[in-house]
Amino acid sequence: MIPDDDFIQIKEVPGPTKEEIRCLVMCKAQISSDDTVVDVGCGSGGLTLESAQRAGKVIALDKNPEAIDITRKNLEKHGYSSEIQLMEGDALVIIEALHSFDVLIVGGSGGDLPLIIKQGYEKLKKNGRIVITSILLETRVEAVNALKKMRMTPDVVEVNIAKGKLTERGTMMMGRNPITIISAVKI
Ligand code: SAH
Repeated sequence: MIPDDDFIQIKEVPGPTKEEIRCLVMCKAQISSDDTVVDVGCGSGGLTLESAQRAGKVIALDKNPEAIDITRKNLEKHGYSSEIQLMEGDALVIIEALHSFDVLIVGGSGGDLPLIIKQGYEKLKKNGRIVITSILLETRVEAVNALKKMRMTPDVVEVNIAKGKLTERGTMMMGRNPITIISAVKI
């Protein structure tokens, strides 16, 4: 995993997804070297870079041009082994135009999560994985319902990470926001 501080970050673009969360997303995504991964809402490229180090091909998209720019810079900084395609635009429009893929990662949806899941499911190959990270209460419920509608069985994991910060008195545990990771496999 790439340490959080090794990413170029700007205040206009969210991310990167924290290291421990990236770890769980990669665990659920089960990416192998001949997989094509689509990263929806690539932000600072946290999940794009981790995917790029594991997959055959990665398509990272974001509606914010600054996110595309930062993701490109982070890819250049770290190097990668896959073929990478960066696409600026709305998730629904871009996914519609794609061929099939093996893994769909959703880190941002702007209110379109149920539709992104439906469209993604249609393009997902057999045994393909969908992995969604959610910070909002509403999106985790939307994700579970949308996956069930596609007759998938959602796996739901909520994590509350606390990181140790060294102080003179000892190591202070600093809590981070709870994150839910919802994933499913297409049978
Ligand atoms: N996973 C990223 C952080 C994602 S932040 C990382 O590790 O760095 C969420 C991103 O989703 C934002 O950059 C936002 O612009 C993008 N986004 C939200 N809704 C979108 C949509 N409908 N289509 C494309 N991008 C979207």
